[in-house]
Amino acid sequence: MPKAYFFDNDINNFQDRYLVPWIQPILIDDSGESKINKIIFKKYLKTLTLGPKLFGGYLLLQNMWEGYDPKSGLKGDLLDKFIELVKNKPQVIDICIFDWDRTLTLIEGIYTTSPDAKSFLKSHGLDTIGLKVSDMAEFYFGGARRVKKLQKLWKLLYQRGCSIWIITSNEGLQSHPNIFYQLLDSIGLWIPRHQMIYRKQLTKFQCLKILFT
Ligand SMILES: [Mg+2]
Repeated sequence: MPKAYFFDNDINNFQDRYLVPWIQPILIDDSGESKINKIIFKKYLKTLTLGPKLFGGYLLLQNMWEGYDPKSGLKGDLLDKFIELVKNKPQVIDICIFDWDRTLTLIEGIYTTSPDAKSFLKSHGLDTIGLKVSDMAEFYFGGARRVKKLQKLWKLLYQRGCSIWIITSNEGLQSHPNIFYQLLDSIGLWIPRHQMIYRKQLTKFQCLKILFT
């Protein structure tokens, strides 16, 4: 039986975990708020490097920032411990499954006003100030330090022969898949396209059951 971990910030997605008991759910912390305080967001922006800071600042001006949750996402101690686990005990994991919103990224939802990430930057004139898809991704994924750690995790997981999956409730993955692909690829977090799943009307564990049993 393979060994698998499923990271998600919504405990409701674990309710029917009995459907695939060998997949270990791991709950990711978030602020519990659907909208974040502006002062907290502004303070957080200051911690970012220039490109992501400019991108976040633009979203702030456009009132497109409220779903962002600096407290969310797989990070900190838990991410460090997981990296150590994969590094030192690779036999303990075969499959790694991530939720997208506020687990891989730090934002609930994604802006699907353009067909892909590059055209989002273009249509908002952000390319003219030199912003790249990787700046956008670094903002969505919580800054340079966290991105570096995720890159390290990805490298280790693939070196150890582990497969990486995304299961999301974010309808954007179906309607605007290129946004997701470009964001991930721009920061070196590649995932095979067929392993990125929009759950539609199924629960996440119902999807996992179909995929893995
Ligand atoms: Mg989520």
